[in-house]
Amino acid sequence: MDDLRVLPKANLHLHLTGSMRPATLVELAAVYGLTVPPPLPMAQAHPWEAFQTRYDAARACIRTVDDLQRVIREAIADSQADGCAWLEIQLDPTSYAPLLGGFEAVVEAALDAMAGQPGGLIIASSWARSGAHALSLAELAARYPGVAGFGLSNDERRGSISDFVPAFEAASEAGLILVPHGGFYEDSWHVRACIDDLGAHRIGHGLTAMRDPSAVAYLAERGVALEVCPTSYPPLGVATLESLPLRSLLEAGVPIALGSDDPLLFGADVTAQYAIARSVLGLTDSELAAIARNSIEASRAPADLKQETVDRIDAWLLQG
Ligand SMILES: [Zn+2]
Repeated sequence: MDDLRVLPKANLHLHLTGSMRPATLVELAAVYGLTVPPPLPMAQAHPWEAFQTRYDAARACIRTVDDLQRVIREAIADSQADGCAWLEIQLDPTSYAPLLGGFEAVVEAALDAMAGQPGGLIIASSWARSGAHALSLAELAARYPGVAGFGLSNDERRGSISDFVPAFEAASEAGLILVPHGGFYEDSWHVRACIDDLGAHRIGHGLTAMRDPSAVAYLAERGVALEVCPTSYPPLGVATLESLPLRSLLEAGVPIALGSDDPLLFGADVTAQYAIARSVLGLTDSELAAIARNSIEASRAPADLKQETVDRIDAWLLQG
């Protein structure tokens, strides 16, 4: 796995709360007198709600600007140790805003912690909240030139796409990259609708597109990347590792990237996702390098960093 750790790549799918180191969760929980639920076993499927208590505990432990910035700085350090040349962190400021001094204070603290680092901040709303709330977050994101993108996280069954069109229009007008979660539980129509109705540049997960060859072709034609996070699917009961269609998607020309989603919950970094692609799915080094290339090319990294990273990926492949 050491060679996969040094494979240059980008992590395009990481939630701030879910990036927290387990040790940081324990330490902050002790400071604030909170209880930390143990990790869930990964070998069996759980409903999302089963993970929610650990996620809520992590969220409840971020009570100050210092806590927020510590989690971001640790995520950046872990990302670099993971061989990532670029990291995009998704932050939903909603639950942090009351304690940290408002929505602006949360965004400014996050931008400050990421300043000068090779990464971008994605402001995300939730499928479980209203379209009006998403619009207010998109307008917030649009006010900060340092914000890279706008996303929509959580369970897509809890919202309807039409409610979020105004938010995505506002984010698009501001030049943000548009990265909703989609096609995790809902069928392939959802992936297509995220592209047609929300203007998605990338889709978080989106694996149900595989159920419809025309949806796969649609992704390939438009160059819409899927952010695939292998370790998230078995514990949520949506797919086994063995069934993940990474090779089929690559062969169909869909630019897939591998992300880590919530390492706090699922226990795996990006290198571990590549290791699964190799050991469970039999992907070759050339296919793994193609995924790494996709990840940096689908990112908001500056053009020179993209080129430098692609050159380093090519060198990695030659050395293999
Ligand atoms: Zn996610």
